Amino acid sequence: MSPRPGKIVCVGRNYREHARELGNAVPAEPLLFLKPSSAIVATGEAIVLPALSKRVEHEGEIGVVIGTPLRRATEAQALAAIRGIVALNDVTARDLQKSDAQWTRGKGFDTFCPVGPEWAGVPDFDRLEVVTRVNGEVRQRGSGAEMVFSVPVLLAYISQVMTLEPGDIVATGTPAGVGPLVAGDVVDVEVVGCSTVSNPVIAEF
Ligand code: MG
Repeated sequence: MSPRPGKIVCVGRNYREHARELGNAVPAEPLLFLKPSSAIVATGEAIVLPALSKRVEHEGEIGVVIGTPLRRATEAQALAAIRGIVALNDVTARDLQKSDAQWTRGKGFDTFCPVGPEWAGVPDFDRLEVVTRVNGEVRQRGSGAEMVFSVPVLLAYISQVMTLEPGDIVATGTPAGVGPLVAGDVVDVEVVGCSTVSNPVIAEF
């Protein structure tokens, strides 16, 4: 993953079953937040559990990499601006996400954004699957067909607000099955056929 993207735009509650498992309604419009690019780590690098949190969870996601600038785009323009796909883990301090009024702290710790190698191209998102494993055991599985808001809808929506620039990543939401990570775990997110990111989990102290 180089160079570091200017921004990582994330989408919350974009799979019905995941919204339900955390007791949230499915939003009427895409729910956006940002993750800092300083949180990025590559495959093989450690996710560090911060002492400030008592519960850190994995969120395996399909990451979309932008190739050409997008501003106030149509869905067709959005699709044409995609450069590639990455596996992405939207690691979350769930306790801080819940206790804070907004999510910057819970989502923004260093190492909280593992990103896999980029696969170049535009896949059939309806058939694209994302699988998350902890210590080899499948914990999450979903496909683009299950998204509440499709990838072109998301990119067009985001581009009404901010220009999406080359290298920016859009994390498209996580399927059901999120759960805790503890020191000693190895967590893998695989976007099947495209990209895998695998990371050991260690404690801060
Ligand atoms: Mg997420």
